[in-house]
Amino acid sequence: MEVYEPFKEAIEEINKAGGERTKLCFQCGKCDSVCPWNRVRNFSIRRIVREANFGLSEIEKDYVWLCTTCGKCPSICPRDVRQIEDIVAVRRVANNYNIFSDTARPIKMVSSGLKSEGNPFGEDRKKRTAWTEGLSVKIFNEHTEYLLFTDCYLCYDPRMKKVAKTIANILNISGVDYGILGETENCCGESIRKTGNEELFKKLAKENIKNFIDRGAKKVITTSPHCLYTFKNEYPEFKVNFEVIHIVEIIYKLVKEGVLRFNKKFNKKVVFHDPCYLGRHMGIFEEPREVLKAIAGITLLEMEEERENALCCGMGGGRVWMETHKEERFSKIRVMQALEIGAEVLVTACPYCITNFEDTRVVLGLEDKIEIKDITEIIAEAL
Ligand code: SF4
Ligand code: SF4
Repeated sequence: MEVYEPFKEAIEEINKAGGERTKLCFQCGKCDSVCPWNRVRNFSIRRIVREANFGLSEIEKDYVWLCTTCGKCPSICPRDVRQIEDIVAVRRVANNYNIFSDTARPIKMVSSGLKSEGNPFGEDRKKRTAWTEGLSVKIFNEHTEYLLFTDCYLCYDPRMKKVAKTIANILNISGVDYGILGETENCCGESIRKTGNEELFKKLAKENIKNFIDRGAKKVITTSPHCLYTFKNEYPEFKVNFEVIHIVEIIYKLVKEGVLRFNKKFNKKVVFHDPCYLGRHMGIFEEPREVLKAIAGITLLEMEEERENALCCGMGGGRVWMETHKEERFSKIRVMQALEIGAEVLVTACPYCITNFEDTRVVLGLEDKIEIKDITEIIAEAL
């Protein structure tokens, strides 16, 4: 096998990403102890941090692509090492050399779909609004209060299109003044950036920002925590700032203000799974729980690993597009954790988590044991 030795580039990229911090690492191993990969196979982010100090020489190895950017290891590191920035820097080098392991190879196809049609599926841009058929959803203009950024999964994935319709119905019932970008909406670019394709991220982000500005958008509602994260934390790199909230936050506000009222009971045992990019990365833990508690009939359970300690579903960091062996899926552990505490419904608020849990439920033959729902679907049933 050919061995690549881009020492200089790797060191430069890691340093650009603040890699000086890797020198602070004293190899305590706390990062490895919390990393979900070590529940299913051996993986050492500690070792990658160590190698990053010298310039990683094995960028062709599969382990470069494993990190889901779940945020657990940076949150526990006593030396404030930024492991995610380091691994993304290494992936940038792999991108520059066009080196992808077998499991990471689908990223190439995804990139080409994002370039040509603005979505990872390579679906026709014109079909981006197909989910609105039969619904009253207008195109955003400068007089509209909120821009609803619908994200690629809600626009194209058959399961998630149902969630898009549910969200539109809830906003319509609540009298929220909102509109969508329609065919001109691009993927937010968060996940492709985490795979190291910085150039493509910048292209998508710049086009979205221009679109937001040209249309006069000031307040943005996101349906995905990944869009929320990148709009709030990464788009300001382009010297722009929009008010950005996740759909769960606006629903929480509507419930508190008495605009959204629940008239029906939801008599089921429910457990909320904290998506990494809503919870650990953005600190939104209580709002979804408060909304669920406001619905009569719900028995709200908690899994042992919840809030800051929630187990990642496995789809962040671009893993959503990579192959994960059946036996190595964190989602399997998570669905079993929900079942073990007696939950009838595993509810969450991220398109990646839902897609993954739905798939896992089928793979494990648990269709009649547990339901997977987006939080908006429970809300809609209780109105
Ligand atoms: S937790 Fe931080 S200091 Fe400890 S091994 Fe990991 S990166 Fe190094
Ligand atoms: S961010 Fe999460 S998946 Fe990535 S190395 Fe850290 S603990 Fe593991």
